Amino acid sequence: MKKHATVAIIGAGCSGLTAIKNCRERGMEVTCYEANDDIGGNWLYSEQPGHSSVCETTHLISSKSLSAYLDFPMPDDYPDYPSHEQVLAYFRSYAKHFNLRPYIQFSTRVTGAHLLPDQRWRLTTDTGESTEYDYLIVANGHHHAPRHPEDVRAAFTGRYLHSHDYKNNRSFAGERVLVIGGGNSGCDCAVEISRLARRTDISIRRAHYILPKFFLGRPVDTFNQTLRYFPKFVQRGLRRLTVKAMVGDYGQYGLESPTVPVTSTHPTLNSELLYKIRHGRVHPRRAIQRVTDKTVAFADGTEQEYDTIVAATGYRITFPFLDRVLIDYEEADRIPLYLRMFHPDYPSLIFIGLFQPQGAIWPLADAQSRLAAAYMTGSYTLPPDLRARAEADSDRIDRDFQRSKRHTIEVHYHDFMYRLERELSRN
Ligand SMILES: Cc1cc2nc3c(=O)[nH]c(=O)nc-3n(C[C@H](O)[C@H](O)[C@H](O)COP(=O)(O)OP(=O)(O)OC[C@H]3O[C@@H](n4cnc5c(N)ncnc54)[C@H](O)[C@@H]3O)c2cc1C
Repeated sequence: MKKHATVAIIGAGCSGLTAIKNCRERGMEVTCYEANDDIGGNWLYSEQPGHSSVCETTHLISSKSLSAYLDFPMPDDYPDYPSHEQVLAYFRSYAKHFNLRPYIQFSTRVTGAHLLPDQRWRLTTDTGESTEYDYLIVANGHHHAPRHPEDVRAAFTGRYLHSHDYKNNRSFAGERVLVIGGGNSGCDCAVEISRLARRTDISIRRAHYILPKFFLGRPVDTFNQTLRYFPKFVQRGLRRLTVKAMVGDYGQYGLESPTVPVTSTHPTLNSELLYKIRHGRVHPRRAIQRVTDKTVAFADGTEQEYDTIVAATGYRITFPFLDRVLIDYEEADRIPLYLRMFHPDYPSLIFIGLFQPQGAIWPLADAQSRLAAAYMTGSYTLPPDLRARAEADSDRIDRDFQRSKRHTIEVHYHDFMYRLERELSRN
């Protein structure tokens, strides 16, 4: 391990930014490649299709107090759930405060990252550059490559789009719209579209916990934070009671009731969907069984004709610049990485932000980056049983969360932060 090891970072979203900052603080030579002409990744909103999946009305799903880098609080005057403009402004002030921009090559897409026999990396870019580095940090995000329901897309003869390309509700005025998916994007789209559409339906294949953003006047994640010191079974019981108090019975909304504990899923946070359903503005539907032209048949035997389908069916985890023989997580059910970042076979490859917390990504990405920087500069040593630990990491996900693609990289925010902090205290 060298004090002045070189590292390439792919992506200057919230994960890449904190990686630059922490590697620089350890004295490393850093080059960050960013395909866009600015920082912010997903939060760099544009009406034009591109990397960002946020829409005009997106606000944070994680609340402000749990959505700050470890040493850089969000401004006091921000609301509990800041808008995407405020989130981007926050990232910009982080980059300014820690002087990160000089280390970023903007408008430069990494087209290839090749592992050399000595475990160094050769990166090629769309600007024709080819450079070698001791380490590679991958921070390209996992909410930008749409996963389409291909059968629906092929059969539907009306307008079809993925929620990645949904920017605002204006083009839906007067239409009959079906949104597919009960995750955060699906519920956000359904609520926004229902303000202008003639009819808005939402097809939810599997029972979801859909919860308001506030409980007892507090952001729901800060409330859950106070429960973290209780044993797991007590947490589960208390969370079950709070769901009951907040929502009642999902059947009253025409939704299926989840049968697994709320702690073993990634709940959807949306204060308006249940309200819209009870106001007759959004109609819940079961799984799609068949599509014929513009008519969709659902699992409960009902049918409905639509002008537009919005598929909020999630994202693929892709690394187009990495050889698929080395890494291919696109259809993976398990992604065994130690602390969601260290690969047992490639000691010079580190992922930052490749996890899905019930809370914000960037405080955890900050902790991961600190550990990565400590490792690359030799003050943190990986455990000798790295492979077993990486597998145990995936076992933990299988044990803690309902088996589904949605949970392949899921983590409990506080447990994960605790594990990262414990490792950090060892360096
Ligand atoms: C609608 C929506 C709402 C969300 N709300 C929240 C929330 O409330 N809280 C939360 O924590 N998370 C939320 N997320 C998750 C979101 O992914 C994270 O907030 C965050 O954007 C992840 O940051 P990142 O840096 O890991 O990835 P990204 O923000 O995706 O940034 C990756 C960067 O890498 C660049 N890049 C990719 N490939 C290359 C390449 N080959 N060469 C060079 N550059 C490249 C991209 O241009 C981009 O700038 C939300 C996601 C969506 C879609």
